[in-house]
Amino acid sequence: MQRTQNLIVCEHCDSVYRRRSLARGEVADCVVCGAVLDRHQWLGVDAQFALIFAALIVFVIANVSPIVTLGLSGMKAATTLWGAVIAMWNDGAQIVAFLSAMTLFFFPLGQILIFGWVLWFARKGIRAPGFPLAMSALVRVKPWSMIEVFMLGTLVAVVKAHTYFDVVPGAGIWAFGFLTLLVTVFSSLDPRELWDLTAEAEA
Ligand SMILES: [Zn+2]
Repeated sequence: MQRTQNLIVCEHCDSVYRRRSLARGEVADCVVCGAVLDRHQWLGVDAQFALIFAALIVFVIANVSPIVTLGLSGMKAATTLWGAVIAMWNDGAQIVAFLSAMTLFFFPLGQILIFGWVLWFARKGIRAPGFPLAMSALVRVKPWSMIEVFMLGTLVAVVKAHTYFDVVPGAGIWAFGFLTLLVTVFSSLDPRELWDLTAEAEA
C-alpha cells in the first residue's frame, strides 16, 4: 500500500482512503476489493528488532544442536538438522534434502536477516540500502519458510521411531519449537508500516 501522509491508496484497485489510527486487533480492508490496507501494529520498531535478534540467536542454537538422539542396544546417534539433510542427500533423497535445506534453513535465515536489516535502519528512522528490494523479498520469502511444518513432521517421526529406538529429543528440537513461536509472531507483523516510519536516506 502506498501512503501519502494521511491517505492510503489500495495497491490492488487504487481506491483512496483517509487514514485513521486503528485499535488493537483492528484491520482496515478495502471496501471495493477487500484487500488489507492497514492493520494495528502492536509492537514498536525496537521491540520488533529485539524479536528478530532473539530469533537469530535461537536459529543458530537450533541449527547446531542435535534434534534427536537415537539409541539402539547401547549405541547412540545424535543428529542436527544439517546432519539429517546430508544423510538424506547421501541416501538418494536429494530432492527432500534440498527442500528441507531451503525451507528450514535458507528461507527462514533470509527472512530473519532481511527483516533485521530493514529494522536496524528503521530504528534510526531511515531506509536501509536496498529497502524496496528487501521489502518485496520479505513478502516473497514468507510462504517458503516452513519451520512449523517441520516441527509437526519431526514430532510424528519421533513418536513413530519410539517403537524401534530410544528416542531422546535434543536441545535442537526445543530451539526449533521456540523458533516456530518467534517466527509465528514476527510473521504476524506487517513490514509495510516501515514505509511510513522511515524516510529516504539522504544521498
Ligand atoms: Zn482495493
